[in-house]
Amino acid sequence: MAKTIEEKQYLVRYKADKKSHLTILNHDKCATECEGQICTLFCPGDVYKWEGDRMFVGYEGCHECGSCRIGCPNDNIKWEYPKGGHGIVFRLA
Ligand code: SF4
Ligand code: SF4
Repeated sequence: MAKTIEEKQYLVRYKADKKSHLTILNHDKCATECEGQICTLFCPGDVYKWEGDRMFVGYEGCHECGSCRIGCPNDNIKWEYPKGGHGIVFRLA
């Protein structure tokens, strides 16, 4: 039987850094210049949460797919690789 996304996500683990490797450059742009806050849709790690009128970034769950570097229509996300030894770790099923 096919695994759900949630089940598949148990195949990865994270070693989160204390400092985020993702930065929203201008929070006002998210509120005023972005219809639909699409980073909440395209991010497979469910990192971006739009609550009230502010974007919250749960960087610890980032899959390092790089999509937010090209997906944000306002170039409003600064994305760097996590520092060495941190970030996602894949393991075999
Ligand atoms: S897609 Fe970019 S501008 Fe839009 S809400 Fe997300 S970070 Fe902000
Ligand atoms: S790199 Fe991928 S998983 Fe990480 S925040 Fe961006 S879209 Fe989400």
